[in-house]
Amino acid sequence: MRAEAVIDLAALRGNIRALRARTGSAAVMSVVKADAYGHGMVPCARAAVEAGSGWLGTATPEEALGLRAAGITAEQARVLCWLWTPAGPWRQAVAADIDISVSGEWALRHVLDAVRAVGRPARVHLKADTGLGRNGAQPHDWPALVAAARAAEAEGLLTVAGVWSHFACADEPGHPANASQLAGFRTALAVAEAAGLRPEVRHLANSPAALLMPEAHFDLVRAGLAQYGLSPVPEIAGPEEFGLRPVMTFQAALAQVKRVPAGHGVSYGHSYVTAGETTLALVPVGYADGVPRHASGTGPLWIGGKWRTVAGRVAMDQFVVDLGGDRAEVGDLAVLFGPGDRGEPTAEDWARATGTISYEIVTRIGARVPRRYVGGDGGTGVAEGAGG
Ligand SMILES: *Cc1c(COP(=O)(O)O)cnc(C)c1O
Repeated sequence: MRAEAVIDLAALRGNIRALRARTGSAAVMSVVKADAYGHGMVPCARAAVEAGSGWLGTATPEEALGLRAAGITAEQARVLCWLWTPAGPWRQAVAADIDISVSGEWALRHVLDAVRAVGRPARVHLKADTGLGRNGAQPHDWPALVAAARAAEAEGLLTVAGVWSHFACADEPGHPANASQLAGFRTALAVAEAAGLRPEVRHLANSPAALLMPEAHFDLVRAGLAQYGLSPVPEIAGPEEFGLRPVMTFQAALAQVKRVPAGHGVSYGHSYVTAGETTLALVPVGYADGVPRHASGTGPLWIGGKWRTVAGRVAMDQFVVDLGGDRAEVGDLAVLFGPGDRGEPTAEDWARATGTISYEIVTRIGARVPRRYVGGDGGTGVAEGAGG
């Protein structure tokens, strides 16, 4: 292999079980948007269903339809999709039994047109904006949206399966927005109930709220990052303190090892120049593979049992490491990040080194990097080896 992302499905299943143990009677939705945060949507969704997630969450309709196209049925998992534009595709979503998030009356009209065209009722989750300021209906639009949905439900055109909202600051437990959003959500629920809605699931919590705010669990928590074994609150606690294990290991084989003299420039712009005679190793992944260019001169990696640092600029396809006096061979393993228990850096270490969050580190691992799945269940649906 040149480079690969090894995806430990046993760790993923273990993380979901750890989350389920924390959330008690609330169900867990496995958020698998953005190719399961770079881990591979379909294999991760299947593993999540095996671990007991009866819900899958996606941003785009294409992702939701992709889950159904892969054979994940509505009996195995409800799929909620929340980022809609007028382009839909609404009819395909209704036909595929996708739960559709509705943030305004414009979306409800599209759903009802699709229901009439397809000839089967839809399932919708009404979304309230309780303070994030992103999607969802504002409090002044909420009663009319609720009333319109209730009227359509009474006509048998749809079921309001959920009422929901999303936090802005759940990763800062003391932030005043959390209490205010929780109160706003309770108000939105009361309005919906007073109008006669009886949603199956009321849901508000993302990973940080699932881990830190039991009062926000309601009937369902939507877990993304935590199920991939990364901490959504790294300033407060690492994954192991929540019983989570990182799922992705990103590694490459050294493509060149050579001695160079002192004063040798390294990579574009010569931002790194060798201090003395030394050994340089070439790592064959770059920003096209998701290695942030901001890791130039700062990104950590693990070669031959030692931490190293990216020397000079990260290029599109490769970067260089200065091994000093240490030896290495072409083909030796360079681990950029993994669970951390062999001593290698973690995705969180990369996030710190590059001024971002671990969400972005794993999600950006590029399509050019093959995913290799390990820890499958040995024959009842998840195969070892390449996939998704
Ligand atoms: C991405 C997303 C989530 C999952 O967030 P995590 O912090 O990764 O758990 C939950 N809900 C919505 C609406 C999202 O967009």
